[in-house]
Amino acid sequence: MSLFRDDGVVLRAQKLGEADRIITLLTRQHGKVRAVARGVRKTKSKFGARLEPFSHVDVQFFSRGSELVGRGLPLCTQVETIAPYGGSIVTDYGRYTAGTAMLETAERFAENEGEPAVQQYLLLVGGLRTLAAGLHESHLVMDAFLLRSLAVNGYGASFTDCAKCGLEGPNRFFSLPAGGVLCPDCRVPGCAVPSPETLVLLGALLSGDWQTADACEPRYWREGSGLVAAYLQWHLERGIRSMRYVEK
Ligand SMILES: [Zn+2]
Repeated sequence: MSLFRDDGVVLRAQKLGEADRIITLLTRQHGKVRAVARGVRKTKSKFGARLEPFSHVDVQFFSRGSELVGRGLPLCTQVETIAPYGGSIVTDYGRYTAGTAMLETAERFAENEGEPAVQQYLLLVGGLRTLAAGLHESHLVMDAFLLRSLAVNGYGASFTDCAKCGLEGPNRFFSLPAGGVLCPDCRVPGCAVPSPETLVLLGALLSGDWQTADACEPRYWREGSGLVAAYLQWHLERGIRSMRYVEK
């Protein structure tokens, strides 16, 4: 028998039997954790309301080792809300679709249960906080999150200096396999040639320069989103399903 406690973001809540749910969380110390929450589908369960997707929570888990508890998963025994981001995300279509793609991406990058993914966790908490505050366009918050998630997982893209030889930018030829822009000498067949403004935007999203990103013209937002989606899909074997619903 063991008890453990952790902060986490609720990624998913699936039905289990009549009244229970399987909750998937991305936690600070234990990475992805799946746990059973009992009785949460009863209408008056405060417990259940705290375990909705997008919620940032503090959870106490109970596991009985080798003994089977709810298909062998740990139980959520206590939940405290740290920040109920879902409230302002699920009521806005743009935020909801962007947020759903963020949760799905975070889960894909933290595939191995129990393996810590601290940077991914911190990015998700920060991204949801920004999304819920509504200070920036939802799709920009999502793209910034996706670019930074790729970076913390070893796929950081270069949008100025040549990704192959390091030649100082700006460089224009964008290659998915190379992981960013290439100079005329390193250029390979099949490069995209995005607008210089789009490359500046993507660099700003990666570095957190919101002033530049917010001021960018919408057509560059769209071109940038397309490149981010292509880059993400290149690195994940299959695409992020929920991304196609995000309005740009
Ligand atoms: Zn080069």
